[in-house]
Amino acid sequence: MEDNNTEHTVVIGAGQAGIQVADSLRTEGYTGAITILNDEPVLPYQRPPLSKDYLNVDSPAAPLPLRGPDFFTAKDITLHASAATAVDAEARNISLADGTTLGYTHLVFATGAANRPLPCPGATLEGVHALRTLLDAENLEAALSTARRVVVIGAGFIGLEFAAAARARGLEVTVLEFAPRPMGRALSATASEWFAARHRADGIDLRLGEGVAAIHRDGTGLRVQSTTGAGYPADLVLYGVGVVPRTELAEAAGLATDNGILVDSNLRTEVAGVLAVGDCASFPNAHTGTRTRLESVQNATDHGRHAARSIMGQQADYAEVPWFWSTQGSIRLQIAGISDPRDEPVVLGDPSGGKFSIALLRDGVLAAVESVNSPADHIAARRLVGRGITLDAEALADPGFSLKALAKAGIPIPA
Ligand SMILES: Cc1cc2nc3c(=O)[nH]c(=O)nc-3n(C[C@H](O)[C@H](O)[C@H](O)COP(=O)(O)OP(=O)(O)OC[C@H]3O[C@@H](n4cnc5c(N)ncnc54)[C@H](O)[C@@H]3O)c2cc1C
Repeated sequence: MEDNNTEHTVVIGAGQAGIQVADSLRTEGYTGAITILNDEPVLPYQRPPLSKDYLNVDSPAAPLPLRGPDFFTAKDITLHASAATAVDAEARNISLADGTTLGYTHLVFATGAANRPLPCPGATLEGVHALRTLLDAENLEAALSTARRVVVIGAGFIGLEFAAAARARGLEVTVLEFAPRPMGRALSATASEWFAARHRADGIDLRLGEGVAAIHRDGTGLRVQSTTGAGYPADLVLYGVGVVPRTELAEAAGLATDNGILVDSNLRTEVAGVLAVGDCASFPNAHTGTRTRLESVQNATDHGRHAARSIMGQQADYAEVPWFWSTQGSIRLQIAGISDPRDEPVVLGDPSGGKFSIALLRDGVLAAVESVNSPADHIAARRLVGRGITLDAEALADPGFSLKALAKAGIPIPA
């Protein structure tokens, strides 16, 4: 990389990944100009609390900033409040909604994802909410303060986090999930069944195998009609049915996309000088051997760091261990690695006590660990997963076995 005064990296998107790219560029010694384009009307903030602490009735609903107020000045990073509207990858310039045109030497797409729309009649009625942005959270928080009956559509992470938060506020909560188990795309059947039982014990009416057919509004409020024909009255409906990567700008610029902007193991697109990171990027995943798009803080942050090194001319395959967390009421779920339905689950600890982990073995190799209220197991798992460690299911299930001890022991890692 030529590192002189003509260098200018432009980052599209001021979320977790975009801010990290800029931060890491400075850490790596980048001396060129850095501009981050922010299309939200607020300073960059963290999204995870929006479905958790932000909705807690006992704490003030305030956004958590991604960086402190002095960060941008101290690091000489320009936060430009405008959306990118077009990219000319040949001329290496970018047009903004405010009429500005910026030239760049490197361009990073960090455009994130948008909520998948609810595909049923009534999805846009007043009182039907989705949750992605601070503005969404502010609207939800206001609606929660007068609601009594809540219907959540989709038992994914955000749906269940919201359901638990609403239940903790004493509201009547019904969750409709079309699939046979909650969080089914990301969690082993063992863990997902435990969560279903736990949420029901906490008073959430979790209805599996039941999707939404339509939402109506009459004089008394909203009514959610399910695919079984049942009707659920509601003052507030929240849907969380997945997200779609924001790739429209990249596509218009001629970049290849397929459920995300396609990048190589250095997070570079096929167009010189253009990279993509975080929720919007589809990358070769060293852990699954497939192309993957992940939606997590870990992925956004580690991508940001890796892309900065890539811009600085360092060549290395991205291979960070994926990890994730979700807080649902008093339950803290942490996942290291990516599980597959074919994995053999081995329970460590006692699920009835609400503190346990599930080790997932793929052909005898530790592929992922799901931990419930067991942070020490999770930290150990992040050191063990992805290193090709063969474990015996029987030995793992022994009450004396400890992931922490195994991680500490520095067991030999196969070449
Ligand atoms: C409610 C909620 C709870 C979550 N909880 C967890 C959790 O507990 N654990 C976890 O690991 N992850 C969680 N996540 C996921 C995590 O927050 C995301 O994976 C992460 O924020 C992705 O970062 P990103 O920078 O790739 O995308 P984003 O955070 O979506 O940022 C992208 C930014 O780019 C902007 N943008 C898009 N197009 C343009 C344009 N043309 N011009 C300018 N700007 C543009 C967008 O408006 C946005 O501000 C949660 C997400 C949500 C919404």
